[in-house]
Amino acid sequence: MTELAKRARAIEPTLIRQLRDQAGPSSLDLGLGQPDLPVAEPVREALVEALEEGRAPYTHNLGLWETREAIADHYGVDAAQVMVTCGAQEALAVAVLGLVEPGDEVLVPDPGFPAYPNLVRMAEATPVPYALDADDDFRLVPERIESALSERTRMAIFNSPSNPTGAVHDRRDLEEVHALLEERDVLWVADEIYEDYDYEGAFASVLDAGAPLASGAKISGLSKSHHTMGWRLGWLISDEAIVEGLKPLHQHLVTCAPTPVQRATCAALGRHEELFAPTLAVFERRRRRAMQLADRLPEVGYVAPRGAFYLFLDLRAYTETDVDGRGSSALELARSLLQTEDVVVIPGAGFGAGGEGFWRVAYTVEESLLEEAFERMAHFLQSIPESSHKKPS
Ligand code: PLP
Repeated sequence: MTELAKRARAIEPTLIRQLRDQAGPSSLDLGLGQPDLPVAEPVREALVEALEEGRAPYTHNLGLWETREAIADHYGVDAAQVMVTCGAQEALAVAVLGLVEPGDEVLVPDPGFPAYPNLVRMAEATPVPYALDADDDFRLVPERIESALSERTRMAIFNSPSNPTGAVHDRRDLEEVHALLEERDVLWVADEIYEDYDYEGAFASVLDAGAPLASGAKISGLSKSHHTMGWRLGWLISDEAIVEGLKPLHQHLVTCAPTPVQRATCAALGRHEELFAPTLAVFERRRRRAMQLADRLPEVGYVAPRGAFYLFLDLRAYTETDVDGRGSSALELARSLLQTEDVVVIPGAGFGAGGEGFWRVAYTVEESLLEEAFERMAHFLQSIPESSHKKPS
């Protein structure tokens, strides 16, 4: 077989996909992080209207001006500071590939979204994980950022609310970290794709936490808040010079985001609060229910998630080896859970070494399915012989 380029070989398929590929149509799937709710009618209507015009032109590379304005108004920034992208994923790629040099170091959260280290590798740079620890409620700890910085650090990537932990970074910690980065001349990228899933009003955007736009990019999009994952619409916000500077990269990768979806984005953001309120209500209920159900799992812990739609279950009582070296990894346990109970969860190791011993559960399904899935998980965990796992000390 033809040998692939080094950058293609440096990238691994995510565990999320690997495990889901083994699932069948009847599997109870708590794996993929996508809401099961329909797109709101006014947003669908705007898309249909754009399609029915019958023309399907490209737009300006940075997006339709009206879409850039709608996004800018949503955040109180300038339309010239907005690049409309094919999902937050493309915005991340443009930011990393456009701002990082080969040989640079980039700080990435561990556990964190697997695209971050992989994009850094694509840029021929080195991902340097900073730990988000269950013992600190997965908080952003400024001292950990400080100790991960080196002469070669070019960028630090943050994600709040977080995939996979559901943690929301405190404004004070963000401010402290951004002051530190500014002092050291380090760029930042803040992935805030879950910003609307904020159950305790704790979310602070990087835009309000003293991060200068001239040295970073805020990234978000429509996928999670308007359930338009497959429509591929996201955005990058930075200062105008960076947006203009990154434009050719975005242009030669994708040309522009899909035109009808850009039109629908104006409809979505024009009535954002009203359209998102029912989603938030559904997810507030599911979050509470998921935590109640998790409370019943034997010897399983979790940190109450303040955002996003994930519960990061702590299975270390089952995965840590005992004195005889017995114990399975959370990946092996997730595989057995799928084989025996037909339930998909994502092993935390798929999000970095810091996720070992955890399962990510997405509460993106109806409560009745959530109940069934947790019942099966409880059954599975009860079937693990006491002798093969150790209780936490
Ligand atoms: N960032 C995080 C943290 C995510 O979890 C995801 C999707 O799961 C994305 C970005 C990608 O979002 P989009 O669908 O807008 O590309």
